Amino acid sequence: MIYPIYVYGMPVLRKVAQPVPADYPELPLLADDMFKTMYHADGVGLAAPQIGLSIRMFVIDLSVMADEKHPEFKDAKRVFINPEILEFGPETKTQDEGCLSLPGINESVKRSTMVRVKYFDENWNEHEEVFNDFFAKAVQHEYEHLDGKMFIDNISPVRRTMNRSRLHSMLKGKVNCRYSVKTV
Ligand code: ZN
Repeated sequence: MIYPIYVYGMPVLRKVAQPVPADYPELPLLADDMFKTMYHADGVGLAAPQIGLSIRMFVIDLSVMADEKHPEFKDAKRVFINPEILEFGPETKTQDEGCLSLPGINESVKRSTMVRVKYFDENWNEHEEVFNDFFAKAVQHEYEHLDGKMFIDNISPVRRTMNRSRLHSMLKGKVNCRYSVKTV
């Protein structure tokens, strides 16, 4: 099933999400639905709070970005459950970012180019993996959703002001995008 995506202003996006309990029902199905919801909206990452579930889980699939320059993205599809970022690399890069919960907003955000992450997949297999570059950025973006943060929290006050009217419209439930959303 395809879920509506919760937009800026929905309180669940600002809550610290709870760990996924071991007996959480039908995780593989939920992961599958999260991918479907994300593909439908042309996203490459989606966190559970963005579909209204305050649990520590997100999905990423960068395979649409695979090309000769980035063949490694071909199998860049992961489900992250109860993830922990164990290490942030010292190098950073500032790149444009968007978010399905902030339609129409793209801003530069500074992120580490490497993260080491411990997580479980949808079958409760434990993994520890290093992610680089775009994958590292996606992990950091999605991880923030689990702590009730959004990428616009990381931009400068000036840039925030530039987006004020757009954000204000979202708070009034006025959103212009082609996937289905839930607003306040
Ligand atoms: Zn996001």
